[in-house]
Amino acid sequence: MDFLGEAKRIEPEMIRTRRALHQHPELAYQEVETSKLVADRLESLGIEVKRGVGGTGVLGVLVGAKKGRVVALRADMDGLPVQEASDVNYRSKVDGVMHACGHDTHVSMLLGAARLLTQHRKELPGTVKFLFQPAEEHGGRGGAMPMIEDGVMEDPKVDFVFGLHIEANRRSGEFGVREGAIAAAPDTFKVKILGRGGHGSAPHQTVDPIYVAAHVILALQGVSARMIDPVRPFVISVGAVHSGTKENIIPDVATLDGTIRTLDEGTRKLAKKRVEEVAKGVCKTFGASAVVEFEKDAYPVTVNDPETTGKVVSVLKRIPGTRVKRVEAMLGGEDFSRFLQVAPGTFYFLGSRNPEKGCIYPNHSSKFKVDEDVLKFGAASLAMLAFEFGSPKGPSGER
Ligand SMILES: [Zn+2]
Ligand SMILES: [Zn+2]
Repeated sequence: MDFLGEAKRIEPEMIRTRRALHQHPELAYQEVETSKLVADRLESLGIEVKRGVGGTGVLGVLVGAKKGRVVALRADMDGLPVQEASDVNYRSKVDGVMHACGHDTHVSMLLGAARLLTQHRKELPGTVKFLFQPAEEHGGRGGAMPMIEDGVMEDPKVDFVFGLHIEANRRSGEFGVREGAIAAAPDTFKVKILGRGGHGSAPHQTVDPIYVAAHVILALQGVSARMIDPVRPFVISVGAVHSGTKENIIPDVATLDGTIRTLDEGTRKLAKKRVEEVAKGVCKTFGASAVVEFEKDAYPVTVNDPETTGKVVSVLKRIPGTRVKRVEAMLGGEDFSRFLQVAPGTFYFLGSRNPEKGCIYPNHSSKFKVDEDVLKFGAASLAMLAFEFGSPKGPSGER
């Protein structure tokens, strides 16, 4: 099966689809037109479609003619609240919204893979489930969780799940893969520091929450420097500080909003505990008190099943014109993690950096630009993984 050759033939169509999506990005939970496009396209291919899955998600089911296993392929569909500043002529037509993370390419590549697989239905072993999910960028419940609650991983039960992400920091045509943890658990926290306000000229009559906040911010870095095993990645950042109205008024309250990132559940649990203890302890020292809250339902660590991922590498290595690199984990979060909690599988990256074409800006940048030459690689890789892992014997490995 020459999936790359076939992907090349549908390359113009994939680029057209991607650009259409790029011009009409939709924010998390609002992917109405995007999911309509997806569902209509899948139906036109003869794939069984369920709309409105987990909100604006779409499930496509393709049953192969041969017996085999159930493989799920996932693409996320949401854009970001970014005003596009790239120089392409298919810029976003929606003010303040942009596909700045490349989810438009994910949709286009997975639709491409769906076409390739339907063309080989007669030889296709097992069943392929296409998961087009909303709201990956949202955090919290995101889009994977509602889709799982709607049963996409059951009936028939998914044996393997795969998803890829376009990556602007990686050179065009390079796959980035890792066994084990590949993306972090992004836990959001809020520290509310309760002091006692008063006049700026008489701080001794007050408990100054801004002064205390400054100490808390510094002390929180001590969690990373002195309380967590240094060989276990852990980052803590305070991204927002809010307090006060005027220079001579000491306010009652200050709030800190921050994020912590970890790559294993043990460190995650410990870090959250220490953050709370340190914040409360520092506040107590200065006579203030603290309310510490962590966002409910934060994404878990994205953990690639090592055995499956080893086989994925051997499949990806067979795609001409690409190369495969073992990569470090990133400390961004991904709700593909939730699918991986239900079935073994792999989340991998596809590089789209190409300085010659000006594709040099990182994901989430207002100038983010993708080298569209890589769409064929992504589509071929997804189709190959579905085909190889659908076979009862599994991937045939390196040839
Ligand atoms: Zn993103
Ligand atoms: Zn993304």
